Amino acid sequence: MIYKLNGMYYDANSYLIAGKKNILIDPGTPGNFEFLKNQIEEIVKDIDLIINTHCHYDHVGSDYLFEDYFDVPIVIHDSEVEHLKKGDDVTVSWLFNANLNPPREIIPIGEVKDELNKIGIEIIHTPGHTKGSISLVFEDKMITGDTLFAYGVGRWDLPTGSLIELRTSIEKLERIANQKELTQIYPGHGEVGDLGSFDRAKMFI
Ligand SMILES: [Zn+2]
Ligand SMILES: [Zn+2]
Repeated sequence: MIYKLNGMYYDANSYLIAGKKNILIDPGTPGNFEFLKNQIEEIVKDIDLIINTHCHYDHVGSDYLFEDYFDVPIVIHDSEVEHLKKGDDVTVSWLFNANLNPPREIIPIGEVKDELNKIGIEIIHTPGHTKGSISLVFEDKMITGDTLFAYGVGRWDLPTGSLIELRTSIEKLERIANQKELTQIYPGHGEVGDLGSFDRAKMFI
């Protein structure tokens, strides 16, 4: 089961996959911590893992708070481990007038991919918004971070972004969504989309 948890203000959407393992995806900014923690604790008692779809501040800013509170490691694409560790300009904390507090334990997704597969979570590398952006498939749903929104796509002009890669990634996601007959797109911001999101996305890229 996936729960969509709402962020406040400009915060990213967070998602909770509750099942054999409870996995929190994109906890958002520190100001969101209490609000989000309360929503999580109404559903599950504990979290096993936090996955970031990419290293942007509005998605990873409160990693360190949830890491402490639930005593869990953070997972991110291998190519963004260093950015998150250093809180460098690729995290775009400057866009939010904030300083990123990095989490202590960061695991590259390559190390846990097989384990995640076993509990029904597929990880897809979808560069374009950032070099290490990932999307996830669980049940008949796709979690797309800032790669694909219900009514558009993420920016490709920020550090490590690429329009060409974004286009390829959207096409890749569309192929997978059709193959697996997925029904819902759970994006990093805004409302839930459907397969029509791919056609709308193509108008922007
Ligand atoms: Zn975002
Ligand atoms: Zn982003």
